[in-house]
Amino acid sequence: MAATLSRRQTCRLCDSKNVERVVNLEPIPLSENYSTDRDIAANSARFPVDVYMCADCGHVQHLDIIDPKDLWESYRYFSGNAKGMPEHFRRMAEKMMRKAQAPKGSLVIDIGSNDGSLLKLFKQVGHRVLGIDPATDVAEQANASGIPTIPSLMALELARKIREEHGPAHIVCAYNVFAHDDNLAGIAESVRTVLATDGLFFFEAQYLMDIVEGALVATFFHEHMSHHSVKSLVQFLDRHGLELIATERTRAQHGSLIGTVQLKGGRRPVEDSVTQLLALEQERHLSEPQTLRDFGAKIKELRERTIGLVAKWKKEGAKIAGYGAARSGPTLMAQFGLAGALDYIVDDHPQKVGKYETGDGVLIVPTSQLYERMPNYTVILAWVHSKKIIETNQEYLDKGGHFVVLCPEARVVGKHGDVKI
Ligand SMILES: [Zn+2]
Repeated sequence: MAATLSRRQTCRLCDSKNVERVVNLEPIPLSENYSTDRDIAANSARFPVDVYMCADCGHVQHLDIIDPKDLWESYRYFSGNAKGMPEHFRRMAEKMMRKAQAPKGSLVIDIGSNDGSLLKLFKQVGHRVLGIDPATDVAEQANASGIPTIPSLMALELARKIREEHGPAHIVCAYNVFAHDDNLAGIAESVRTVLATDGLFFFEAQYLMDIVEGALVATFFHEHMSHHSVKSLVQFLDRHGLELIATERTRAQHGSLIGTVQLKGGRRPVEDSVTQLLALEQERHLSEPQTLRDFGAKIKELRERTIGLVAKWKKEGAKIAGYGAARSGPTLMAQFGLAGALDYIVDDHPQKVGKYETGDGVLIVPTSQLYERMPNYTVILAWVHSKKIIETNQEYLDKGGHFVVLCPEARVVGKHGDVKI
């Protein structure tokens, strides 16, 4: 797929020019993009996904930016369908309502609202809801299911218009998009504009500390532009008239951070959770370039070991499959040197079966093929669901198959247990 690439010259959070490349990665094709033509899929353009750190605020980020039009307009990832998400959203919504204590009928805005799965929960208890999402397909579905959704990226002008038409919002949330938008200053200013004096802004994003410590290279792809730390976020929010008052670490995507934010000078005190995480980040040297360089070296080592292992298996005549045509698939395949290694990928998604994965042109077949073809090794590309995939496919292991988990903790799983890669 063609896409427009631009190169950001400054830090996404503080605009400093003092940014340094800390991790070199293999370029990757756009994810969640499948083709019925093997050649087109195999020859998809690849774009850099190297990792940079700001020397001034410590923010870890990608600076090679795909035009949001190319990235989002054809996006078809429905959060309501994702495994485990409804339960996660329910818990998040309950927490937000408890913290915000917003009166019935308050306005709740979700930035990056996808199919409206999260907003539905607020609507059910009598709040007014408004979604904002640039993916036209998912926005359309949300509107059709009764969740009013504006098909757009959040921007200051839109925020002003919303406040004018709907009044201030008592709850604003941004599930995941806080890491998925190049214009974070625009989002922060928009939040400041729509938020009621007593309102709260909640964001959830993957947490840099978990990414580094779990070597979660699967999380580096073009949509995921920022890898947040509390230290850089506190400074960033402060510059935009906002204050981080609480943080919570969750196991979503193997390590995420939920931040609670109020307008600067708001009535709520800053909770200990913020200062505790700041101290932990300092203790773990999270804002030092060497920490990220060490992470990069670890990934490179893993890549070499995986390439060696796959070459050995291929020499022995082994068949190797992938499990899950997931968003992180192309980056896992590229970063672990799996080009040409996979014979097919198993996945049951109706929009993916029968198509070819971009980058390597691997055919996607139904998961039942795992038992019909019995590949010797199956690399889990839907890495977030590794545990569940292994649990539900014990029979494949019993029959002599192996699962290959690349992150966290790269290992080969067989019926007699795990072997570290
Ligand atoms: Zn910075």
